[in-house]
Amino acid sequence: MNNYIALRMDDVGASSKKFNVYSKYPFCNTLFLKYLPPFRAWGPYNELSEEKWFDILNLLSKFNAKLTIGVTACYVNKDSSLIPFYEKFPGQAKIILSGVQNELIEVANHGLSHCIIGKHLPNMFSSNRKNHREFWDCMPRKWHFDHIKTSQKILKDWIGYQVSTFIPPGNVYSLDTIDAAEEFGIMRINSSKIIPSQTKVNIINEDSVYPFHDREIELYGIAWLENRIKELKQNQEFALIRDL
Ligand SMILES: [Zn+2]
Repeated sequence: MNNYIALRMDDVGASSKKFNVYSKYPFCNTLFLKYLPPFRAWGPYNELSEEKWFDILNLLSKFNAKLTIGVTACYVNKDSSLIPFYEKFPGQAKIILSGVQNELIEVANHGLSHCIIGKHLPNMFSSNRKNHREFWDCMPRKWHFDHIKTSQKILKDWIGYQVSTFIPPGNVYSLDTIDAAEEFGIMRINSSKIIPSQTKVNIINEDSVYPFHDREIELYGIAWLENRIKELKQNQEFALIRDL
């Protein structure tokens, strides 16, 4: 399709927003320094509230826009236990589901955990950013299959059908991830990094995608999204990633 743009918001439900605390300045990763605003590069920030989700749905319908969201199927607790998104954030899950049913929102798979479970807590003296990517090539093939399988099941239990789009956390994935994606119903992977494979999975780049994170809305408010929608709407129409 020509002249279509897909808005894509990542990190919905991901506990990485709590635990991926690192500084842009290497010497500032010591102890509490990385928690202080001028030194902080990513987390921590809060999950979007139910009110913000209502605002998002209202914006989408007002501007005839659509939004693909990358949902991380489970929240990873401090003790490494996992809790499905719809149980950890039941209010938000209900509102998002109504957006899905009205075809304003596409739920895409953004991993099971977004991180290497067990290595996800902030380090005392160094950055832990690397462990907040889930599908490293060095992880066993079984890890890729287990994580894709379980996340697909959890997302299906919530929205009622199989999710067909996968957004690799941090654009990190491998041939094992693609094989697993194909086996568990993923039809397309959207990433800035293209990995050619022999599978039927369609790997699509970000040329027709406007990627951002829930962090922008949490930090800059719903007006940030409204401004982006108004800018993009001037010469493009909105589509879900699955319809590109
Ligand atoms: Zn992410």
